[in-house]
Amino acid sequence: MNVGNLIVTKNYKQDFSIKCPVCTTESFSAWGRVDIYNIERCQGCGLGITSPFPEQKQLVAINQETYLLEQRITTYRSRYEYFKKRYQRQLHDIKSFKPSGKLLDIGCNIGVFLSEARAASFETTGIELNRECAEYAQSHFNLSVHSDYLDNIAFEADSFDVVTMYDVLEHIPDLHSMLAEIRRVLKPGGLLVVQSPNLDSLMADLSKSAWGWLSPPDHLYHFTPGALSSLLVQTGYDVQLVKTWEPADDFCADVMQAKLGNSLLARITRKLIRLSGLALALVTVVQKNWWTRQKGALVEVYAVKATISCTLSSSTTDKGRSNDL
Ligand SMILES: [Zn+2]
Repeated sequence: MNVGNLIVTKNYKQDFSIKCPVCTTESFSAWGRVDIYNIERCQGCGLGITSPFPEQKQLVAINQETYLLEQRITTYRSRYEYFKKRYQRQLHDIKSFKPSGKLLDIGCNIGVFLSEARAASFETTGIELNRECAEYAQSHFNLSVHSDYLDNIAFEADSFDVVTMYDVLEHIPDLHSMLAEIRRVLKPGGLLVVQSPNLDSLMADLSKSAWGWLSPPDHLYHFTPGALSSLLVQTGYDVQLVKTWEPADDFCADVMQAKLGNSLLARITRKLIRLSGLALALVTVVQKNWWTRQKGALVEVYAVKATISCTLSSSTTDKGRSNDL
């Protein structure tokens, strides 16, 4: 199996011996366990890796089984205002780097973000491997969406001003190849935005193995702000901005799920918190405090295509800065 410079062993229990794809360290410690999967943490850069690492054919099956069109539509419809606000905030941040131009969203789902991007004056293209979701984005939002792997599509070099990947990179086995291909299709100075769950988050610290966003084997990697920034620097990007955040009610629900399970008490408490604006406001204040310390459950990195190609020997970025919303 080709997973870049990651060497996967067959029998992890006795012999968990891999090279970290970010810092090449071979020293890992057990961080948590979900079902049959372990989350191993690199002692060099803090990256988490799912073990055992699934085979390519398993990954394709997981993608087809996990992301069903009806479920996705229901999720967006049930929280439409939330998603709209979230995407508008992300587009506001993108526009502070690139006010307009050609935008490629990798893993565009049913196309809600792309339709907001088009409304915000970007010329949009999407990639979505789930064919049903891609067809929905085409027919429902009249979007241009490819349903194939990025390197199969073979866009021309220097095509895009912005490439976005929300909740995608943690699913990609070969991180270096993916980021190299994105770098090739970005225009000089083009912007890459990557968002992924944050293994260094307060939510992960409190929930540990019960943290809902670990999601192995669907999630192969578990990034931190430092590990993600370092990976982007190594693959030829200049990191401009690192921020962490999370939806307030997700924070409450996930931490309670971890602490109280799915008991009646937990369900009632969750409902009360969702109904109580005051409780959510208090949680939001606490969260924003933690976000400034890069402890939000989602990490977002904004990076531009560097003019000179960097190598694996590049050091961890010192350009990233944290920022609350
Ligand atoms: Zn590492």
